[in-house]
Amino acid sequence: MTTWLPPPPRRSNRDKRMLASPHTSRQKVRYALVLLSLGLLYGGCGWLIDHFFTPNNPFPVTVWLPAGLALAAVIRWGHRVWPALLLGALALQTLVLGTPLPGALLAALGAAVGPLLGGMHIRRHCSGRLPFYRLGDVFRFLWAGVGLSALVSASGSLLAQAWWHYPGVSAALQQLCAGWLADATGTLFFAPPLLFLQRSGGVDPVPARASPLELASGSAATLLAAAVLFLGLNDPHGLYTALPYLLIIPLMWTAARASLRSAHWLAFGILLLALAGAAGGRGVFFGDSPGLALLNAGMMVLSQSVTLLIMGALIAERGSAEERLRRANHGLEEKVAERTAQLAESEARQKQLVDAAPFPLVLSRLADGVITYANERAERMFKGRLHSTQGLTVDDFYVTAQARDEVAALMRDKGQLRDHEVRLQDTGGRIFWALISCTLVRSGGTLHVITGINDISERKRLEHSLKTANEALRQHLNEIESLQSGLKEQLVRDPLTGVFNRRYLDDALPRVLAHTLALGKPVALLMLDADHFKRINDTYGHKAGDCVLSTLGARLRDSLRSNDMVCRYGGEEFLIVLPGMSLEHAIAKAEQLRKVVQQWPIEALDHTLNVTVSIGVACSPLHAEDAESLVHAADTALYVAKSSGRDRLCVAEPPAGMSPRSTTLSG
Ligand code: GH3
Ligand code: MG
Ligand code: MG
Repeated sequence: MTTWLPPPPRRSNRDKRMLASPHTSRQKVRYALVLLSLGLLYGGCGWLIDHFFTPNNPFPVTVWLPAGLALAAVIRWGHRVWPALLLGALALQTLVLGTPLPGALLAALGAAVGPLLGGMHIRRHCSGRLPFYRLGDVFRFLWAGVGLSALVSASGSLLAQAWWHYPGVSAALQQLCAGWLADATGTLFFAPPLLFLQRSGGVDPVPARASPLELASGSAATLLAAAVLFLGLNDPHGLYTALPYLLIIPLMWTAARASLRSAHWLAFGILLLALAGAAGGRGVFFGDSPGLALLNAGMMVLSQSVTLLIMGALIAERGSAEERLRRANHGLEEKVAERTAQLAESEARQKQLVDAAPFPLVLSRLADGVITYANERAERMFKGRLHSTQGLTVDDFYVTAQARDEVAALMRDKGQLRDHEVRLQDTGGRIFWALISCTLVRSGGTLHVITGINDISERKRLEHSLKTANEALRQHLNEIESLQSGLKEQLVRDPLTGVFNRRYLDDALPRVLAHTLALGKPVALLMLDADHFKRINDTYGHKAGDCVLSTLGARLRDSLRSNDMVCRYGGEEFLIVLPGMSLEHAIAKAEQLRKVVQQWPIEALDHTLNVTVSIGVACSPLHAEDAESLVHAADTALYVAKSSGRDRLCVAEPPAGMSPRSTTLSG
């Protein structure tokens, strides 16, 4: 942090040369010359005061200019000026005032030591700046530079006089007070304008608000008024003695409107006129005595200078505080402008990037969903301006609040969203499917959501039609499959009776035989034929015959095991394959079937018909091991059964070489 202070005085080259420890002979000569000039000036000031104010003056001198010069020199150049002060004061005491040497030495010592003490203290604490811009500095100037310095100087003078002639305590105190007053007023009168001669150290920190013309006319009017008061007006009764104190008003105005330096110089001018008036026996301070005039002038120096110092410091402090505030404000404004420019630049860059994106992009604030920017593609997609001034939020483009809440929840949980399908609507109300991806970004201290949008309506439509086509295709395939399985059934089934057909038998029987025989098990075959079926046809009609055949097929199927096969072998002939069944069991089964048919009359077209069957039985491997021979054996046995009287079963003859057995079984 920078705290504002009046700038430390830049040392001029002359100052540097003056302050530098003299090493070379040239430096030493210059140093001696400067000291000599200062000493002469010191003595000259003393002579001036002594010459103009001491003759016929019953009062002591009240404005001792050398004191102001000495303090100003120490504050400006430091302790190195002590020889000039000491020698100047000694010369003044001895040559001008005629003080005997021991007293002159004491007085000169006091005149040098006082300003050295006060001036060095001020130098140390004011860090090179003039002691008029801060109230603290002003108080330091007053007590150290004016009060202490004047006390030491006055003490020196008193000692000098006492050395020669002791006046008594009361007179000594009076002399001390008078000496102190003279030194103090001299310092107050002369030191500030001298110090303000420094160009750099006197630079006023507050920019002057009064124009040079305003300052010049104000100063001229003030000096004119002072001239009238101190030189023009004759006031033997002292009626207007208080009037000059009003001159503090233009001084304050100058300090506030122009600069502290101008105010002090103006004060110097006023006091110079007052002194001139006092010296010339004129003006409001004169009255009827020159000593009184000088005393009045001294009092005015005191009050005017102290007031100006204190008020001036207050004004300067206020001015510097205002200046600090103004600079801070200016700095702040610059920072704001810089930040605004940066923001605008980053916003422009952001927009450039967003505009260059090859797909629709929308920028919205996370907090309230307000759309802050949308690229051209997005505006084309939503058919309208989406800029923030439109007051649109992303919520306006979701079809349902549920979809919007779902996206918001996903963003809250994961901070981003990838390829989320959602239904959106444009400004015209057209609803379409979109694939959205969202990412959170921080821009200007605010969280924003960048949403990339892809219109997938066409894809969705294609997906839908593909799904419908797939569904139709699946249905079609199912139909084909059921048709195929129906066809397959039709291929192996007899349509009238529902049992297997002959083609199936030709295909299946060799396989069943091979498989069952391989397992070491027998396969029995029953060849079954309806007796006198032609008569049924002839008597009741062909349709009744069909009914009988159909019922017969169903009855046979119902009477058999699941792995037995019933086939329609010919018109009214059925062949029954009984895998794993022995001959004995087959005979029993054949007998059972014969009885089932015989005992249960068949309902056919309002007729109840009694039907009988003849059955030929053969068994593999007993009668044959191949399908054809086995069928032939069963058929032969059937033939025997028919010829033996029908409604019976007959077992095939064993092949030659095997012992014969009973071949027919009557019904
Ligand atoms: P048999 O006791 O000797 O077997 O005498 P049958 O009359 O049953 O034998 P035949 O061979 O003389 O006659 C068979 C009859 O079966 C002749 C034919 O019209 C009839 N038929 C064959 N297939 C069908 C058919 O699908 N439906 C009907 N209704 N009759 C059929
Ligand atoms: Mg028959
Ligand atoms: Mg027949």
